[in-house]
Amino acid sequence: MAHPASSQPVPLIDLAAQYAPIADEVMETVTEVFSSQRFVLGDEVTALEEEIANYVDARYAIGCASGTDALILALMALDIGPGDEVITSPFTFFATASSIHRVGAKPVFVDIKPETFNLDPEKVEAAITPNTKAIMPVHIFGQCAEMDPLWRIAVKHGLQIVEDAAQAIGAKYRGRCAGVLGTIGCFSFFPTKNLGGAGDGGMITTDDKELAKRMMRLRVHGDVGGYEHVEVGLNSRLDALQAAVLRVKLRHLESWSTARRTNSEKYRELFDQYGLDGYFDRPEIYADRKHVFNQYTVRVPNGHRDVVVKYLRDRQVGCGIYYPKSLHLQTCFEYLGYQPGDLPEAEKACLEVMSLPIFSELTDSQLDTVAQTLCDAAAEAINGGQEYRKAA
Ligand SMILES: *Cc1c(COP(=O)(O)O)cnc(C)c1O
Repeated sequence: MAHPASSQPVPLIDLAAQYAPIADEVMETVTEVFSSQRFVLGDEVTALEEEIANYVDARYAIGCASGTDALILALMALDIGPGDEVITSPFTFFATASSIHRVGAKPVFVDIKPETFNLDPEKVEAAITPNTKAIMPVHIFGQCAEMDPLWRIAVKHGLQIVEDAAQAIGAKYRGRCAGVLGTIGCFSFFPTKNLGGAGDGGMITTDDKELAKRMMRLRVHGDVGGYEHVEVGLNSRLDALQAAVLRVKLRHLESWSTARRTNSEKYRELFDQYGLDGYFDRPEIYADRKHVFNQYTVRVPNGHRDVVVKYLRDRQVGCGIYYPKSLHLQTCFEYLGYQPGDLPEAEKACLEVMSLPIFSELTDSQLDTVAQTLCDAAAEAINGGQEYRKAA
């Protein structure tokens, strides 16, 4: 044995470790909300909206009930509905496409770039029809999609861009933050996102005053005040408790993102050290982008992914499969008429990806355990237990 057998369990994410050092701050602010007895919208939400707008450098930020609702409100504000098409990625969380369906429009899936798992701009233009109204790129795993070619396509064809930035708060593309890279940006505060609340929550960002006003009324049943309903909206407000918790956490977000990025560097060193690069494909990082690593996703080639995942899980090393099924092949989207093989890169990614622990509080010894276990898992997958060594 070249290394000791790993023993400690490593969770995929450890929210308790994140909470422990900020527990006092969180409980203090939660107590204040209870004292105020103002639970829906209000000062805490307004303050968080201002802070998020500042953080991503947007003119307006509008809190809502979830990332899914952020996407729905954005599409509603752009008057996208029946008869319209929205181009998006099939390799994403379900809500990206369901929001398009939910407003009555048609999701049009375009394949991904294998290196980034993001929408392939070269394939977008071919999917445009007279009904196309918007492109919805997803900054998957926390790295921005290739926006420059998407901007050019959007301008050329008069399309809106709605960013699904649910996994990418704080991520940057050529110096600008996710959330201001399109007409409207949509964030999620689901607990496992980089900025996670104590339940569901979401935020919409835009520089457009009229769209901001419209989304603010759409989240409260289209009410312009005094029970005057000028259109039918949703009940999709952010709770004061969520906003209060998120404001505490936002103060730590930069350092948490830095820790995630540092962990990705450590993985690079460990992959070198253990010779894992010949087997696993590490995520590509681009100089014009700031990756915030909501997920650290590697590829396991040769049909070995499921063996490797089982090996890790049996040894209590957390790993996730995001995503096991491309959205164009989901039962609920059968009506769109896609067949297996239509979007080969997305389908291949679904068979090969595996996400490893990357959370901010991960220790060096936990990182080492992950790398050692990967080494053993590769050995298991390749030659039934012989220690894996780089071919070189
Ligand atoms: C989490 C997520 C959403 C939905 O956010 P919720 O707050 O869970 O509704 C949408 N898109 C992507 C890519 C996500 O990761």
